[in-house]
Amino acid sequence: MLYQLRQREYLLEISRAMTSRLELGSVLRLILTYAAEMVGAEVGLIALSEPDGSLVVKASYGIPAHLLPSFAPLLTDIPRLVNLQQRTGWQIPDLHLRLQAVAAAIGMSLDQVISLPLAVDDELLGVIYLFRSGSVAFSHDDRRLLSAFAAQAAIAVRNARLYSELVAEKQRLDAVIENSADGIMILGPDLRIEMINRALLRMTGWSREKALGRPYHEVLALQDTSGKDLHEIEDLERELPRQGTVYVEGELSRKAGSRLVVGVRYTPLWDEAGRLRNIIVNVVDITRYREAEEMKTTFISIISHELKTPVALIKGYATTLAREDAHWDEETLREGLRVIEEESDRLNSLIDNLLDASRIQAGVLKLDLGDVNIPQLVHQVVERFSTQTDRHQFEVDFPDDYPIVLADEERLRQVLNNLISNAIKYSPDGGVIRVGGWADDEWVTVYVADQGIGIPVEEQSRLFQRFYRVDSSLRRKTQGAGLGLYLCKSLIEAHGGRIWFRSEPGKGSTFFFSLPRN
Ligand code: ADP
Repeated sequence: MLYQLRQREYLLEISRAMTSRLELGSVLRLILTYAAEMVGAEVGLIALSEPDGSLVVKASYGIPAHLLPSFAPLLTDIPRLVNLQQRTGWQIPDLHLRLQAVAAAIGMSLDQVISLPLAVDDELLGVIYLFRSGSVAFSHDDRRLLSAFAAQAAIAVRNARLYSELVAEKQRLDAVIENSADGIMILGPDLRIEMINRALLRMTGWSREKALGRPYHEVLALQDTSGKDLHEIEDLERELPRQGTVYVEGELSRKAGSRLVVGVRYTPLWDEAGRLRNIIVNVVDITRYREAEEMKTTFISIISHELKTPVALIKGYATTLAREDAHWDEETLREGLRVIEEESDRLNSLIDNLLDASRIQAGVLKLDLGDVNIPQLVHQVVERFSTQTDRHQFEVDFPDDYPIVLADEERLRQVLNNLISNAIKYSPDGGVIRVGGWADDEWVTVYVADQGIGIPVEEQSRLFQRFYRVDSSLRRKTQGAGLGLYLCKSLIEAHGGRIWFRSEPGKGSTFFFSLPRN
């Protein structure tokens, strides 16, 4: 009676302990210890099935570690099919022969053995072996008791296995989330941040410690492009669909102050009762995409404007001059034809610039290198421009020993044309335009200085971008596609050189470029 009482206590204790522990190793040790104590066994082991079907010892009791391999005969050819109803009928063939082999190998007296399957739903998860010395065999009661116990142990083993699979799965998922290039965070039902990955921390400028537990909209502070807060997402819970996602685009105000354009996708997860459990928030940086879009729009509006103006002039003059009912005097005729020629040239150079820009973009711009006498080239370019303006004076200033460089003369002419025509365009009140240069051991440098309107400080960093034009009333009056400086920079860099400028708004600008001496 007392024995049975103790057994019941054991069973209770073990089922409690087993359900509160999920780590497989400790569950197995616990099972084995209780089982051995329960039936007074001195030695025991638990072997579990591996994915390939073999049995491997996972816990032992009363066996020195170095003797464990000797138990191998007990772990092969184990019947895999377990009929739960008839668990007691489960037998390992030749058990006693196997036992003798093991006992002889390890030199321990293992006289009595009992083996029980750990099985759930007829699936063999493993085997428990218990051994005892002496002549008293394990009784039918022992077996019955252990059986009930093994059934419970099997469930604990399976739970522990599932748990460790879950842990592995979670680790995998965590690694995917943490290392994703997109920003990801997981919100709790209270819309506070439960998890946030590295990419999103980088985007927002928050530290993990500060971000965790915070209301999500403090960290992901989204505004629409006009700077208005995107309040719609504060009502996230109400707005979230039962199925699918919500997508919002906006600007992210970052801790550092700079802005990022992002696309944010909110995916709600609901529990069975329809309550919000989590929201997965996926944040993609679309700044470049937006910029490309804007550039495309700017491109189309600038190009259409720039192409339409000369075409309209050409068409207007041509139509007027061709009128049959009018007789034009020589001077009018000449003036009209001059405008047509000039505007055709402008069209031509715009088209050339566009082609060059697309070649540069495609990386197929080729240089035709030869000896170039830069001062001589500058004189030619300046001479051509000086016939076009009487408000500007040109000064050319190069030292006599200015070196010859290996470069593409036509491309350098293009650069000088652009810089000098900008100097003219952007000094509407005239002034002196100085072009000169110097050389040191490594570089030859050229500058073009004007006394024009200069460049506002806040615009200076974007000047060399494609289609970029400083917004001013003068810009609206002057023609240009914002391609000139982009081309200059690309052409100079293709030569291995660099281009930069200094400018004081209202006083003038000086553009410099350097080419390597060969
Ligand atoms: P575009 O002249 O066709 O507009 P560029 O790429 O040559 O294009 O120049 C880009 C912008 O840089 C111009 O719109 C102008 O605002 C500014 N810029 C270029 N050169 C000068 C200069 N010498 N002085 C003042 N602003 C300049």
